[in-house]
Amino acid sequence: MKPRLFTPGPTPVPESIMLRMAQPIIHHRTVEFQKALHDVGEGLGYLFRTSQPVMTLTSSGTGAMEAALVNTLSAGDEIIFVNAGKFGERWGEIAGVYGIVAHEITIEWGTAVTAEQVLEALGKHPSVKAICLTHSETSTGVFTDVQAIAAALRPGFQGLIIVDGITAVGAHEMRFDDWDLDVVVTGSQKGLMIPPGLAFIVLSERAWKSAESSTLPKFYFDLKLAKKAFATDDTPWTPAVTLVLGVADALAMIREEGIENVWNRHARMASALRAGVAAVGLQPYGNPPSNAVTAVMLPEKGEEFSSLMKKKYRITMAAGQEQLKGKIFRLSHLGYYDEADMLAVLYAIESALSDIGHQYTSGAGLAAAQKVFNGGR
Ligand SMILES: *Cc1c(COP(=O)(O)O)cnc(C)c1O
Repeated sequence: MKPRLFTPGPTPVPESIMLRMAQPIIHHRTVEFQKALHDVGEGLGYLFRTSQPVMTLTSSGTGAMEAALVNTLSAGDEIIFVNAGKFGERWGEIAGVYGIVAHEITIEWGTAVTAEQVLEALGKHPSVKAICLTHSETSTGVFTDVQAIAAALRPGFQGLIIVDGITAVGAHEMRFDDWDLDVVVTGSQKGLMIPPGLAFIVLSERAWKSAESSTLPKFYFDLKLAKKAFATDDTPWTPAVTLVLGVADALAMIREEGIENVWNRHARMASALRAGVAAVGLQPYGNPPSNAVTAVMLPEKGEEFSSLMKKKYRITMAAGQEQLKGKIFRLSHLGYYDEADMLAVLYAIESALSDIGHQYTSGAGLAAAQKVFNGGR
């Protein structure tokens, strides 16, 4: 079998983009590169549904998370963050390093924070400057309704709503301007279909105002420099030129498909995969589920199952992390995937289940997924 990558970052890269990135390197202070950067800026605005500059940073997604905090806050400022998984937890870890006082909303892994819980935490800590959320918690496969939370917070809360959209952007509806968000970040190796190495960040006017008084240390991730450079299709430092050229093509693909179609495709693939695994007697993990990644409880003989998936069927899945280690497996449908990919992975799951002697109706997973794709017929 062909090797197939089903991890929620890195995700598969379209062949046309790999070829673009294989071309000879160009210098970044050239008209050709400026044009690419200009197109990337426009494409990102389309993706995030914003008229604010969306800046491209050369780092992984975590770099943009760090940039979000150090550019808008000062030591001693208070934030609220949600620990419902490994990535939500990260907001608290970054805050701790910089002397930001981080109040944790502790949520059982596999569930999502609600607007009521956020409002309750805000009631206890009314002087917080920012509320940090994780739109799609990749470690548990759970979606958080950022739109509903933001709507419940406004207009009473005029602090910052900072969102880790790293596996949500491109998979779930995101309307940065309409939802009145303040910072959203994402990374290149997730919904943007290119290799790891770039991160993207957008700030609202409110967030730029906070940046004026922020005193936390920053040099490489000073977003004021990035914004100034953005205005002339430039970057403050040498960008990952090759990746920028790649993402220009990826954004053009997203635009051609249409952002709403992209969101719908992700919803369709996620719901088909969930239906498929349930139909062969596996238990989807986490609720409400993310459209970017599906987490599933491992069957009995889970280790053998995972090993067969990897070695015999050549599917690279993601395992559970920390407390979910040995309990779940995770499959991505984020970025460059289609319906046939979901059928391929379900075929492998059915085959591996059959190999370990799991009782199920052969073909039931594939049929359930196809039924979703065929609109329930
Ligand atoms: C992948 C991921 C990150 C971390 O991004 P890196 O690119 O590994 O730094 C953060 N948050 C979420 C939700 C992610 O999926």
